[in-house]
This record gives sequence, structure tokens and C-alpha cells, in this order.
Amino acid sequence: MIRRHVKKRLPAPTPVLRPLLPPAERLLPYLRLIDSTRIYSNFGPLARELGRRISELLSLPPESVVTAASGTAALIGAILACAGRAREERPLAIVPSFTFVATAAAVEACGYEVRLLDVDSESFLLDPARAASYEAIDRVGVVVPVAPFGRPVVQKAWIEFRQKTGVEVVIDGAACFEAASAAPELLLGEIPVVMSFHATKSYATGEGGGVITTNVDLAYRIVQALNFGFLDDRDCRMASINGKMSEYHAAVGLAELDGWSEKARALAGVSSAYRRHFNALGLQNRFVGSPSIASCYALFRCETLEEAEAVAASLSENSVGHRLWYGRGVHNHSYYRGAPHEGLPVTEDLAQLLVGLPVAPDLEDYKISEVVQCLSPIFPNAKPQRLPRIAIR
Ligand SMILES: *Cc1c(COP(=O)(O)O)cnc(C)c1O
Repeated sequence: MIRRHVKKRLPAPTPVLRPLLPPAERLLPYLRLIDSTRIYSNFGPLARELGRRISELLSLPPESVVTAASGTAALIGAILACAGRAREERPLAIVPSFTFVATAAAVEACGYEVRLLDVDSESFLLDPARAASYEAIDRVGVVVPVAPFGRPVVQKAWIEFRQKTGVEVVIDGAACFEAASAAPELLLGEIPVVMSFHATKSYATGEGGGVITTNVDLAYRIVQALNFGFLDDRDCRMASINGKMSEYHAAVGLAELDGWSEKARALAGVSSAYRRHFNALGLQNRFVGSPSIASCYALFRCETLEEAEAVAASLSENSVGHRLWYGRGVHNHSYYRGAPHEGLPVTEDLAQLLVGLPVAPDLEDYKISEVVQCLSPIFPNAKPQRLPRIAIR
């Protein structure tokens, strides 16, 4: 008997993240403004307008937002402005290992030696009490708590940490745009919060970022740190970089703001569709999505490494993109293998167990259903949850 090879048709691949930024037509009016002003960078009119509009959205005074070339540049600017470069008596910087590698890269760019701490297994956050009791805290120049996946980092505890230890704090709130606009009174204040407007983040300008602080003097120092140490004249008065946002990126940012409520709604819709489909399989407890994290992420929380491997394998087999967003933690990147730490069991676990699923503002419901369906064979015993019965007396 001749066996005919039947070629299995592979489904079209679904990328893990497919950003969608404003189309050319929506940029055009802003680009024409650049043509007329002939100002292309250096905190020009569009970058200033963007800072004002984001401040307004976050219910803050207009000078609270400093725009930057990227989230990483914004981190460097904020660290230089509040802690300065590493000094001999304070050469260390504390960073959680459960983060994107940019957090560590930024403190190193400011001359600090990275010290990695573990995070809490439920909040995914660095605990201020744990940082305060770090054995070499008197040699630490700056702590950079991270808002992982845009989970909120509350200002109050870190203000108290700073008062108690005298150590400066810069919050890496790279994906916090949505959390901060939902609760600015809790998440924004004098401690600078850095955001990334990279294409992959919910609110995006392509490349870009910002620092948000209600301390106006600090905001000016950040502007200076991002502009060669210049403020009113061309005299460099502090450690600095060129980390300014260009007018072209500001144009994208303004057009993105014009369509922001629509985009935010679309992204939130993706998260609720995931929740609905996981619910139908009885896996709702495994899904982590908006509003508990930024809507540019949809995470599936595995319980064991074997499960995570099975999930990844099944997604790959079905051409579904997936990603461990923070790799296996900063300490597992080749370059940071030697960075000292006191054990990182939670990061070791979390980083490998939180599998990033596909997100796009225009990801169709049937695609989301397909992604969820390809996980169902791994969980044959999951039961869809029934609504609790209402007791009638
Ligand atoms: C995205 C991200 C950054 C880096 O932002 P860029 O704009 O890409 O420089 C830093 N930290 C965290 C936690 C991020 O998610």
C-alpha cells in the first residue's frame, strides 16, 4: 500500500506581541507642525505639549512629566538627578532580579554595582522592609523598585524607606501608564516614576519614555540630566547623557494620546476575552491580565516547571508566540551571572512560570480562543466554575 503524505496545514502564526501605533494620516498634522517650527528636538513644542497632556491625564500639574528618548534613558536621567553617579562610599544599587534587564543596565550606566534582591511571590514586588534590612544598606546609593508588568508600586512605603535609610529611590514603572492613570494619588508623587513608551508597551511612541514626579525642582534636574547637564546656558553642571525625546517621537505620542481611550479599551477587551475563554475551561485562576497588570501583557501562571514546559511546547506546536518576558531573571543573563545576591528562589520560580501569551489591540476573539484551546489538553481535569447557588430560604 502506498502511503500518501498528507501535509498538515499549519495555522498562521500568532506573534506574542503585535504592536499597533497611530497610522500615518494621524501623524500628519503633527508632522506639519514640525515642518513649520523647524524644531526637531531639545524639548520642543511637541515634546512639551506631550508632557502637559500626559500630566493632565494623570491629574498632575503640567511640569510633572519629563519626556525622554526611551524608558532606559528616563531611568538614567532620574537616577543621575536624584542620586547622582555612584560614589566611593555608596557604590551599590539595589534592583530586583525579577525585571527586564534595562533596570540593571540603567544603574550600571550610572556607575553603580548591581545588587539583586528577590521579590514577593504574590505581589511580584520588591519589599521595602527587605531592602531596608539589606546588610550593606549603608553602602547603597539608590534602590530601583520595579512595577513588574505594570503592577502598582505605592509611593508611601518607599517615601518612608527613603526617610528611614536616607537612600534615594527611583521607581521603574515602565509599564505603569494604565495603573498610574487609574490611581495617580497612590502611585505618583515626589519619588520619580519612570515609564517606557516603547512600541511593546500599552501607551507607545515607538521609542520613548518619561519620568513623573511632583517635585518640580527634581523634574528640572531630570531635564538637565537628559540634556548634557545644561539648563539655562550651555554649561554642563552635572553628570548627564543625551536622553531627550525627539519632536518626531512626540508627534507619535500626541497622535497616540488622541486615540488612547480607544486603544486602551481594545487592549482591555483582549484581556477580558482571555478571561472568558479560560473561564470556560475552568482555568480562570491561572490567567493574569488587565487590570491587575498592564493590558499589553496576558500571562498564564503555571504551577510547575514541567507544566510551563508543556504549555510552551503546545503553544509552539500551534505556531502561537509566547515569551518569558523577564527571561529567567536578571541573574540568569550571561552578563549579570556574577552580580551578588542572597538567593533568588521566588524570581527563579516566577520568571519561568509566568508565560506571556499573544496580545495585540486588534487580536480577534477567535484567535484568543485558539490560543486558550491549545492549552486545554494539558489540563484535562480542569472544571469550568459554576456560579455559586443562591440560597433561598
Ligand atoms: C520596557 C521596560 C524597560 C525599558 O524601557 P525602554 O523604553 O525599552 O528603554 C525598563 N524596565 C521595565 C520593567 C520594562 O518593562
